[in-house]
Amino acid sequence: AKAAGRNTYQMFTKEMHTAARQRLAIENSLRSAIANDEFVLHYQPQVEPVSGRLVGLEALVRWQNPEDGLVFPDSFIPVAEETGMILEIGRQVFEKACRQAARWREAGLPLVRIAVNLSARQLRQPDLPDMLAAIMKECGADPEMIELEVTESMTMERPVESIRILGALKSMGIGLAIDDFGTGYSSLSYLKLFPVDKLKIDRSFVKDIEVDPDDAAIASATIAMAHTLGKKVVAEGVETQTQLDFLVQHGCDIIQGYFYSKPLSAEDAEQYLVQRAGN
Ligand code: C2E
Ligand code: CA
Ligand code: CA
Ligand code: CA
Repeated sequence: AKAAGRNTYQMFTKEMHTAARQRLAIENSLRSAIANDEFVLHYQPQVEPVSGRLVGLEALVRWQNPEDGLVFPDSFIPVAEETGMILEIGRQVFEKACRQAARWREAGLPLVRIAVNLSARQLRQPDLPDMLAAIMKECGADPEMIELEVTESMTMERPVESIRILGALKSMGIGLAIDDFGTGYSSLSYLKLFPVDKLKIDRSFVKDIEVDPDDAAIASATIAMAHTLGKKVVAEGVETQTQLDFLVQHGCDIIQGYFYSKPLSAEDAEQYLVQRAGN
């Protein structure tokens, strides 16, 4: 029994070493990804279901890793958050989105807002509004072309400070949405004070909307409440006609999900823009 215990212990520390080494490896390659401009944005359409009109594109970061190919955010954003590298990555993402928005406008394509995800650390930067304004100016992008998504839990960490920063961003003309709504235990009294235009119903509620009465109730209550507060509602992760029908029936304003489209490369998003916007 003793020997087995020691073996287990040895195995455990060995695994820990491997995990620590793996993490360090990710950290190092993230650092070179930042230096070598290895991040690209994909764009997922946001559609007004009744008219079928394209109203927005969410920018989703991917890491074009020279060895591993396209890496999805869930496997590097957490490390980037912990190490603080998310600040630089977030800056690069915002800049890319602004350049793309300006390019599409130059090309005479219809204007739809590009939604960019912010991380908690970015929201805590006191000079965030100034920094974003400087990037937009440099890229020739207008605030009307941009929307920022902040998660519900992020805003609730420091609600008073969040309200102040979001207020500054909104007064610049940037659109604001609360992401992953329903997962972060918002207090309704704070929600009323948040100067945001949209709430995004989290994918976890949409997934079982047809079979789980709790999820259906949360989704329809969120839509009703948002409308009472003068905000629009985006449902994310919509994959099926039944999910779409439920959401449309309950007045959901905007739909994002595989039902309409997966996230697209910039090139494919441009095609989508040509075909779907403005009609
Ligand atoms: P999110 O902001 O909630 O983004 C939605 C995620 O759901 C995206 O995953 C999208 O591809 C996926 N999705 C959209 N429609 C469907 C659907 O119908 N079915 C399913 N199964 N999935 C769908 P993705 O691109 O892997 O991004 C994951 C998360 O990474 C994002 O969740 C966001 O929290 C974070 N993220 C992405 N880009 C950035 C960024 O530039 N900055 C920061 N800070 N976080 C980012
Ligand atoms: Ca998002
Ligand atoms: Ca989400
Ligand atoms: Ca449930």
